Amino acid sequence: IFEPLASDFYGFESLLTAPEQEAIARLRAWAETEAKPIVNEYWERAEFPKHLITPLLELDVARWAWPETMPFENSAVFRGLASMELSRIDASISTFVGVQDGLTMGSISECGSQEQQDEWLPKLASGEVLGAFGLTEPQSGSDSAQGLRTTATRDGDDWILSGSKRWIGNATFSDITIIWAKDTADGQVKGFIVPTDSPGYSATKIEGKISLRMVQNADITLENVRVPERLRLQHANSFRDTAKVLRLTRAGVAWSSVGVAVGAYEAAVAYAKERVQFGKPIAGHQLIQDLLSKCLGNITASMAMCVRVSQMLDEGTQRDEHSALAKAFCTARMRETVAWAREIMGGNGIVLDYHAARFFADAEALYSYEGTREMNALIVGRAITGTAAFV
Ligand code: FAD
Repeated sequence: IFEPLASDFYGFESLLTAPEQEAIARLRAWAETEAKPIVNEYWERAEFPKHLITPLLELDVARWAWPETMPFENSAVFRGLASMELSRIDASISTFVGVQDGLTMGSISECGSQEQQDEWLPKLASGEVLGAFGLTEPQSGSDSAQGLRTTATRDGDDWILSGSKRWIGNATFSDITIIWAKDTADGQVKGFIVPTDSPGYSATKIEGKISLRMVQNADITLENVRVPERLRLQHANSFRDTAKVLRLTRAGVAWSSVGVAVGAYEAAVAYAKERVQFGKPIAGHQLIQDLLSKCLGNITASMAMCVRVSQMLDEGTQRDEHSALAKAFCTARMRETVAWAREIMGGNGIVLDYHAARFFADAEALYSYEGTREMNALIVGRAITGTAAFV
């Protein structure tokens, strides 16, 4: 049974159809009963709870990147609210989904041929194949449009890939990784579906993270990895095509950042009602109410922005700068909100058991990945002024 969230203060969930609301209710029930009780423990151990992958994908979450195959008609607002729902419980789990569906399936649905879509999307949606997305490199993060050093050289019916990648989520256990590399002939960025058992491919887990500890990020080395032409994404001809995938996923990260803010805020509200200081629950102190109302203001403004950006996707009017502004704005509001939520909990705000600490730490990764705030601001700046100021 669908119950509106108290933190959806302006009732955006009422925009959903009955089947969409039922799907949100199923996802919420699953996340609260199966994921929430174990996430702190896995976060602390820096391990991904792999046993959750199958039941999670059975909820059709990977089909958000292939919505025409969902069992009911659905809107981009539904898919956004659903990803918010997962992040509200845990951002590592929603990041896992973002990599599997938005980045991996999104690359294939945006840039793959019909044949490639037919071959890979069903397997990725069911989890028979797990994917990863390899764009960032040790020496190239924000400047990946022009700075990629990984090369792709045509050799008969094959391509030879050489170079390295950094930060690649899910890549310690993925079956395929989408590798973006510069074609040595025309200098353009192209995409390849690389099976991770290819000779010359290796992935090593990045240790010591203080944010999204459950997500398994990897350094990847490609030493003359041979990939057949049939695995080159047939419609990825330059970084502009890569950017099409990022336009969609950045709006998804904006939604996830609302979920992280909501998760921390809800933990703070519950705590404030219980915690007694100066003879009454701290929820009754004016300054705590001020912090709570500022959190709710950030959440509501961000949700409104995300709803509109998703509607623009369905209307066919969403451009790069629209999702870039949502990513930059909502992740910045999330960062303020999780800090206020943590503050409301005093010392317990830095203890995992109380949940705000995990959201607080995880917010840092969302703030920086899929384009830092500065990069997304520059995409918006280019649209405002007509001048690209990246270089
Ligand atoms: P840099 O590009 O080195 O930037 C450092 C700082 O300089 C930033 O503050 C940046 O905004 C600033 N800066 C750079 N250029 C300019 C400029 N022109 N003007 C003003 N400021 C500038 N990548 C993948 O390909 N696949 C993944 O699955 C993936 N998952 C990730 C998961 C996590 C947890 C993290 C942390 C990262 C992940 N990334 C992934 C990489 C992520 O997208 C990059 O970290 C991000 O794009 C920033 O690149 P960078 O870390 O190299 O920082």
